[in-house]
Amino acid sequence: MFFNILEERGNLDTSKFALGVKEIVENVRHTGDAALFNYTHQWDNANVTAENVQISNEEMKKAYEELPDNLKKAMVLSYERIRAFHEKQKQNTWMDVKPNGEILGQRVIPLSSVGVYVPGGKAAYPSSVLMNIVPAKVAGVEKIVMVTPISKAVCKDGKVPQNVLAAAYLAGVDELYTIGGAQAVAALAFGTETIPKVDKIVGPGNIYVALAKREVYGYVSIDSIAGPSEILIIADESANPTYVAADLLSQAEHDELASSVLITPSRALALKVQEEVGRLYNQLPRQEILKKSLKNYSVILIEENLEKACETANDIAPEHLELAVATPFEWLGKIKNAGAVFLGHYTPEPLGDYMAGPNHVLPTSGTARFFSPLGVEDYVKRSSVLSFTPESFYALADQVIDFAESESLYAHALSVKVRKENQ
Ligand code: NAD
Repeated sequence: MFFNILEERGNLDTSKFALGVKEIVENVRHTGDAALFNYTHQWDNANVTAENVQISNEEMKKAYEELPDNLKKAMVLSYERIRAFHEKQKQNTWMDVKPNGEILGQRVIPLSSVGVYVPGGKAAYPSSVLMNIVPAKVAGVEKIVMVTPISKAVCKDGKVPQNVLAAAYLAGVDELYTIGGAQAVAALAFGTETIPKVDKIVGPGNIYVALAKREVYGYVSIDSIAGPSEILIIADESANPTYVAADLLSQAEHDELASSVLITPSRALALKVQEEVGRLYNQLPRQEILKKSLKNYSVILIEENLEKACETANDIAPEHLELAVATPFEWLGKIKNAGAVFLGHYTPEPLGDYMAGPNHVLPTSGTARFFSPLGVEDYVKRSSVLSFTPESFYALADQVIDFAESESLYAHALSVKVRKENQ
């Protein structure tokens, strides 16, 4: 029963949104700014025009300089730690030179331009700005274009929130436009009179944004489609029930569809955690969301032992997995499917959301079985390099001819034969 719930997580029926999104994307594709600004007026209630859609670097800089000192300090530390972690992910170009003159290699080339969607309809996400842009900078992307909607629900004066502008400045955005939703994704994918076309679109967003990314895939590249947030905690008797309960609530408050799962061999711990979840819930403001996510997609599961708990965790393949056990490194090797693993009692998931350094954009809805966290490799492409001398060419010529003729590709064989004749 609980597996049905968890397997269904993220599998929403999107059909009722799909047609509308398709229409928005097609209209922006064919009529550019006119459709883009009309939709922005319709859905964001904002009078955006070609003249006011872009935010200047000076405005971003001012927002950064005027940040309260404590927040500026936190943001700079977060930026530095994210940057340091992602620097380690960089792949180098390599060339393998053989004694007979054959050279084979692989060039790693940054994408020329990337569009970063930063959601802004219901809340401000400066941490998403850093997590999506810093790896692109580390990769060496030439032009980073950020889009974010303006929403009176988030900022009463109808502007982009100061913390988002400040994070954009700190991260090193090249161009920033105040558009959002499916229309912003279409504008980045096809370009309009004012919005530049990019090679790849990354960043989370609501259902309209997610479906629009799916719609433009192929015209541009996209990152994965983020589903609702998830945490799975494997805990033993050594765990503090209050810590475990707080960590479960930290993901449940994200979204009504979020899922929080505890797996433990200890019935006593399970009961204490349940009690603590109830107590802490009463202290939190987002109770409407918490009530639904805890009821619909959250569960406490008793397993025979930690070995079994790890097996179940692998089946669920959560976005975030905490090993709240006495000897977490002993169990790390058993975990195959998880976006990020948090070890021990002092590595709570929110540390990873803001400050630790690894990317917080992680595979959701069981896709940790085959997807990885967002990283520098998402902002580069590889290109193979081949170079042969006459000597190294002749050494392989006959085998190429045989292979090509077996596929009835005689012009392929000919390309080798005409050179071989000069041997
Ligand atoms: P958003 O920017 O994604 O969406 C707002 C836009 O949706 C608006 O600009 C508007 O154009 C469009 N829109 C709204 N109603 C519409 C309608 N009826 N028809 C067509 N378009 C419409 O902001 P949001 O709504 O706050 O959603 C953000 C989402 O991103 C949340 O689900 C949040 O949980 C998620 N998120 C995920 C991560 C992550 O790392 N996985 C991080 C931050 C946010």
